[in-house]
Amino acid sequence: MEGVSEMGKKGKSPFSFVSLPHFPRMRRIIIFLLTFLFIVSLTPSVLASSTYTVNLMVAYDEEFSSIAWSRYAYSAQDLATIIIWDTEAYFSSSFNIEFKIVAYRSWDSNDAVTNRDLMLDEVVSEVGFTSGMYVNYMRVDVLVAFSDQETIGVYGYSDKSLGVVLVMETYLAGVGQATDNVLQHELSHLYGAPDHYENGLMCVMNAYPYWIDFPYYYYVPTALVTNNWDVDCQSTISFNRGVWGRAQSLGGGGWHFWMEAW
Ligand SMILES: [Zn+2]
Repeated sequence: MEGVSEMGKKGKSPFSFVSLPHFPRMRRIIIFLLTFLFIVSLTPSVLASSTYTVNLMVAYDEEFSSIAWSRYAYSAQDLATIIIWDTEAYFSSSFNIEFKIVAYRSWDSNDAVTNRDLMLDEVVSEVGFTSGMYVNYMRVDVLVAFSDQETIGVYGYSDKSLGVVLVMETYLAGVGQATDNVLQHELSHLYGAPDHYENGLMCVMNAYPYWIDFPYYYYVPTALVTNNWDVDCQSTISFNRGVWGRAQSLGGGGWHFWMEAW
């Protein structure tokens, strides 16, 4: 208490270490601003520039491993990583969402499964995934499972309640590698973006047929030829961008005004 009375005697405020002007009004404004900055520094999510980091578990099956070697000359793990980085570039530049791979798992997909829900359930149980689980002391938010087992009749599938996306390796004549489009599409579903079916809408959520001309002459879903989001999907994902992962202010490990000194 001695220190307090000492301060009282000398008439100093607790902020006396900052050399404040002697105008009381100015002092109040400065104290208010310092307090405001302090509060802002404790709540990074209010910063428009905050980044959401989403921790991923990545799984791949034997068909994905096989196509990774034969078509791309990569290991399954490297191909999965490259595709995730491609997709992350779009989420990062548009929404400040970043994906961090914290675990890799291989899984052995049952070739007899023709139902997309069963295939998704199979990988979830085989790798033991639950959103919120910890691997090596790191929280895992979302499971990205790659396959090339074309028995379920879809390019990809997702379950928002489980935090799981299932992605088929996709390479199309006249288009090239489009697995990243499938991943982008399915991850967008996790953020609440719906499918569209609209002629000419260049959105990765658009399933409307897109004509691939000379020399191929066939249709593919528009989603496989664009990495754009239309304005509706942009605002939906933007609104939901905090549903997976954690906010970090200005990159790195959470940077706080003046508190970084200790
Ligand atoms: Zn979809």
